[in-house]
Amino acid sequence: MPRHRGPVTLRGPIGLDTPIGASGFVGAPILKRVGPKLGIRTVRDLLFHLPRRYDDLRELSRARDLGWIPDGEIASARLQVRSIRVDPTFRRRIQRTIAYLGDETGEVEATWFGRRYIEKRLHEGDRIVVSGRIKRRGFTTTFDNPEFQPDDGSALLHAGRIVPVYRLTAGLTAATLRRAIRQALDSVGAAYPEYLPAGIAAAEAMAEAESAAGAESAAAASAGGAGPNGRDSTAGAAPDGPLAGISAALESAHYAESFEKRDAALRRLAFDELLALQIGMVARDRQRRVAVGHPIQVPATRLAEATTAVELALTEQIRARTGAPEPAHLTADQAEAVSAIAADLACPRPMMRLLQGDVGSGKTAVAALALAFVADTGRQGALLAPTDLLARQHAVALRRLVEPLGHGVTLLTATLPAAERRDALALLAAPPSAPDATGLSSGRIVVGTHALVQEAVQFADLALAVVDEQHRFGVAQREALGAKGVSPHVLLMTATPIPRTLAQILLADQDVSDLRTPPAGRLRVRTGIRRSSELASVAGVASKGAYPLIVREVREGNRAFVLVPLVEEDEESSARSADEVARELPGQLTEAARRMGLDPEPEARVGVVHGQMKAAVRDATMDRFRRGELDVLVGTTVLEVGVDVPEATVMLILDADRFGLAQLHQLRGRVGRGEAQAYCILVSDSEDETAKARLDVLATHHDGFELAEMDLELRREGELLGLHQSGLPTLRIASLRRPEDRRRSLRARRIAEDLLDDAGAIRPGLEALRAELETGWLARVGAGEMLADAADAEEPA
Ligand code: ADP
Ligand code: MG
Repeated sequence: MPRHRGPVTLRGPIGLDTPIGASGFVGAPILKRVGPKLGIRTVRDLLFHLPRRYDDLRELSRARDLGWIPDGEIASARLQVRSIRVDPTFRRRIQRTIAYLGDETGEVEATWFGRRYIEKRLHEGDRIVVSGRIKRRGFTTTFDNPEFQPDDGSALLHAGRIVPVYRLTAGLTAATLRRAIRQALDSVGAAYPEYLPAGIAAAEAMAEAESAAGAESAAAASAGGAGPNGRDSTAGAAPDGPLAGISAALESAHYAESFEKRDAALRRLAFDELLALQIGMVARDRQRRVAVGHPIQVPATRLAEATTAVELALTEQIRARTGAPEPAHLTADQAEAVSAIAADLACPRPMMRLLQGDVGSGKTAVAALALAFVADTGRQGALLAPTDLLARQHAVALRRLVEPLGHGVTLLTATLPAAERRDALALLAAPPSAPDATGLSSGRIVVGTHALVQEAVQFADLALAVVDEQHRFGVAQREALGAKGVSPHVLLMTATPIPRTLAQILLADQDVSDLRTPPAGRLRVRTGIRRSSELASVAGVASKGAYPLIVREVREGNRAFVLVPLVEEDEESSARSADEVARELPGQLTEAARRMGLDPEPEARVGVVHGQMKAAVRDATMDRFRRGELDVLVGTTVLEVGVDVPEATVMLILDADRFGLAQLHQLRGRVGRGEAQAYCILVSDSEDETAKARLDVLATHHDGFELAEMDLELRREGELLGLHQSGLPTLRIASLRRPEDRRRSLRARRIAEDLLDDAGAIRPGLEALRAELETGWLARVGAGEMLADAADAEEPA
């Protein structure tokens, strides 16, 4: 009798926090070793490692009927092992095991390739339940690599039921994981303490029933929908009765008796995730409401005067570039954002505002005015940039804008020489109250990277933190900067807007200003789609090719980017392909010049940047490109936040289908920053319809706000755009792509508002929920930290 059928002896009492290696479960040593790769460290993690799919293997066929099942379909049967043999030499190293299985109606085969020890678990005469894909060769019916388990009256796990299919990792088999999870459910899952107050479960169930009834008519209109095995089906089924209890939900999320029960279980778990998310946001919002900030009055006269000065600076900037400018004016959106910020600054409650706008929409000018208003009162403002190079560029751009307003700019990055760094630190710790020799204030406006949030940096009076490309910073970094001042005002800036449908869910704890209209005089980037065979010419017409375009632009004094995608998140091979492209490009461009009837000399100067280079080397190369010492810059996605080069007019993106829509749009924003016509060429050989649709959308749309909305529609399941962008934790069960989960979020928000007091702490009597949020499975949503902060704030000093 195989070992695994016996009862399992468990070492000591097992709890949710028992490390998986000490659980005594089937496969515990393997899980201890490879579990962390799947996020499984404790018994609780095992319970919440939910299936990625469910296979319906409930219907058991007879051997004779299996002969009628079409090739490639999945079937299950209850059969007896008639004989078994191992073919160890089949195709060299791969072992093949063949079993003949039958019942009183007939016989079928089962074969396993490369799976060892099957022969030790299967013996002549054994009765088994088997499930797998049917393969048909002539008159022979074969189960291809099927799952099976002994038909000995024990619970069915692998076959003859709705079978959970889990994410696995090398060394861990599906069967082992299923059995370990079964044990986790039996030992602790069944007694998982309920943490949701009963009233909530009942109210939510009622709301779901109403919502589903409303959605039903809509669903009937749009026939189809996801298959019975997809997670998507949670949206459709009409629920009745209260929300499943947590232990019942866990059982049915893994081993459901029916898809209805599975759906009810996933609804409960999704609701909990969304509730945790909303509790975190309501807590943050209320804590900010009671926090004491820095009310800063911006007199109307100063607002007008500062605006005029900034407009003058912008005009000069453009004049320096093009010669003959119209005078620049803040766009209506910029002006509106500035007055909203001025109003926020005047409130005792700290500002929390998100400034969204495409690359080039003019966020810097808005930030400059906000920083100047703060510096006007002698307090400090900091601008945080994601990279060293960007921080230096920001410092240059900001100086031009705020010096006319009477303020100097201090730069603080990790690469600053020691002496300069010391000076900068001294300035920030004790900014002089009198202007310097040039008449500017100093130490009041600082620009830096994450070096700013390090402990050694002391601010005398930080009242405003501006975070550029905020989704590139972790919540922790942002909060560390916040902790540098007494609840400073915060202005977050992003070039990848959050889709409107998600904004009301994810941004409920902040105010939003959108810069939708670009500054006047900007030309649209012309966007085309090409196959990789069309780089040199399109249908024999050289002028339509990407290389001729680059040659033409470069010879007119403009510059080009060539983007190489990250290969499967593998920095090393991406770097290799970037190097290779950079090596071959000069020759290809020379060849293109020759075919255009141009002098092949001089050869284009091509540089390369990627993630495998030292940051200093990378920054130096980008600097050379910016200064015009390089004509073409080849790079990986490190270019995304890259550099501001007004002379860049071509963005060539190789394998463009590997990028998301929002990302492509962001990359396209790297060109067209100047006044010349710019081009974006998307190269793709993909035949995938979704990928093609995504590129088509990009070629025809130029508004980042619209594109964000479409991106949400065109994403594949599992890619949660909004959450990645906002730096919020990822949801695993709920998906904000689903309208049903969006409705659920809004309900969860109202519930969260009731569960928290005015100061953003969880109300008494909800300790079980609080514990689950802080240290339980919902801790991954990140609301627990907010609650802990609220508790600290309440404690008397
Ligand atoms: P973002 O940070 O939003 O990508 P920037 O602030 O860098 O955009 O602005 C892009 C360019 O537009 C800069 O060169 C800036 O001088 C210019 N600019 C900003 N606002 C205006 C305006 N109102 N009119 C004309 N040019 C502007
Ligand atoms: Mg910017």
